[in-house]
Amino acid sequence: MTEAWAGRTFRNAAPLTLRGDNPVDGYSAEDLRGHGWAPGGYMGTCQDCVEVHVGGDKRCRRCRACAIKALEASRNRPRWQSGHKGIPTDRPVWAYFYWSGSSEDEDIMLLHGISDEGGEVFTVQHERVRDWDRYGHVICWIDVEERPALSVEAVDAIVAALADQRSIHWSCADHIVEDWLHQTALQAVVDGHRDATRIAAAALKSRELDFSRYYG
Ligand SMILES: [Zn+2]
Repeated sequence: MTEAWAGRTFRNAAPLTLRGDNPVDGYSAEDLRGHGWAPGGYMGTCQDCVEVHVGGDKRCRRCRACAIKALEASRNRPRWQSGHKGIPTDRPVWAYFYWSGSSEDEDIMLLHGISDEGGEVFTVQHERVRDWDRYGHVICWIDVEERPALSVEAVDAIVAALADQRSIHWSCADHIVEDWLHQTALQAVVDGHRDATRIAAAALKSRELDFSRYYG
């Protein structure tokens, strides 16, 4: 087989470029499909810029340019981070926090405040009363202003924190967090949370982790 022939075979075997893929801007039809645009032969009005666009699928919600903007906004949005690593200490964030000094039933709380001491102190910011410190562990955090809703991403971050037995000194708190997580996932099912099945599946992954579940 000659080199030239081998080259041609290789080119022929390469995947066909989908209509709507643009090697110049780097966005493929597949990238944009989940953000409201797919290639097609239809004309439509974009929900964002309200311009008429052509060359889109019948069910397009956006023009290609606005779908790119939506994709980038989604890629750049703040995400849940497991543990306390990288947590800003100069501004409040939202965090799931295990309160080790809790005498209440609920040891794990979604709190808004500022982390300190390697995630083991969390100064809760409260609108009506003065700020107070909680002692325990930041399980995971997200840098947003609005109180975040329970999501699969948050559950994944909590399970990842449980898996981290090196930088978080769990003592016996890991199985308490696991129990709370499973209860929270069950509650999502009862409440009819639209992602309940995925949340429950993500929460059950903690069972694959190896840590002591002994209640002494
Ligand atoms: Zn548009």
